[in-house]
Amino acid sequence: MKRQNIVILGTGGTIAGRAVSTSDNIGYTAAQVGIDQLVAAIPAVGDAGPVLIEQVAQIDSKDMSFTVWAQLAGRVNHFLARPDVQGIVITHGTDTLEETAYFLQRVCQPGKPVVLTCAMRPATALAPDGPQNLLDALSVARQPGAQGVVAVCAGTIHSALDVQKVHTYQLDAFSSGDAGPLGYVEEGAVRLLRNWPLAIEGRAKVAINHIADLARLTEWPRVEIVMSYAGASGMVVEALLTQGVQGLVVAATGNGTLHHALEAALLKAQASGIKVVRATRCLNGRVLPKPGDTLPDSNGLSPVKARVDLLLRLLD
Ligand code: ASP
Repeated sequence: MKRQNIVILGTGGTIAGRAVSTSDNIGYTAAQVGIDQLVAAIPAVGDAGPVLIEQVAQIDSKDMSFTVWAQLAGRVNHFLARPDVQGIVITHGTDTLEETAYFLQRVCQPGKPVVLTCAMRPATALAPDGPQNLLDALSVARQPGAQGVVAVCAGTIHSALDVQKVHTYQLDAFSSGDAGPLGYVEEGAVRLLRNWPLAIEGRAKVAINHIADLARLTEWPRVEIVMSYAGASGMVVEALLTQGVQGLVVAATGNGTLHHALEAALLKAQASGIKVVRATRCLNGRVLPKPGDTLPDSNGLSPVKARVDLLLRLLD
């Protein structure tokens, strides 16, 4: 039987980064090496079957934009629809990987694997981590039964719903918090601990139509994140309201608690028709709803993912 393709989409990041010296792991420029070059440097890439390669973007993911998200979602949807494609691997910077992963899961709801991978060291490093991460991501994309958007870094598979960057420097920079990882990749073999992210029936199709339109118009809803902390006030919220913000996510303390001054401003914003959502600053756990809550919680989503969710809801 003819083996199916895995599509590798390049978007930039440290995995495609270049430094002047091989011993420099931090003073590099991200998104310099083309995806074809990155793939060509790994002889084992084609061992398990054919790959198709496409450069969708070439950016440092700290600068991720709605335009690139729309392009990427479009290409992912295009390739997912092809019967000769088994799965997709996306090389991506680590900084906003969790946002892109959650965005793609929500918008594309893939019944095939879409695997984001990355690196903490540039391609020019003495011992770069990108090539192994890319090989591991390919193993996941070729795994029978795999589906949904996942991230693969340092031999660990994370669900798009739970993954967060938790370290600034170490190679194993991601965590799934108290949900735990989906599994591991060991010498090309996938050891699955829990189920793949499942497609949830809902707004995906509606959202993708809007995204196609909005990619042309560059008009996305304005959703911002504010944080609660000691000495917080309502000033940031008031300033955002004058700028026409449509949605606000608050990174609350603990189990969704808010400084009273910030809370008053958020309640006023909500009363004026702005959508407000409470997520938590804590890395583990979720905001547990209580009777009488006046501001809705994020249903377990981190602040940045709650923002993506709110963006998509406003698009609907
Ligand atoms: N700034 C880089 C990026 O997110 C960091 C990385 O890839 O590790 O593109």
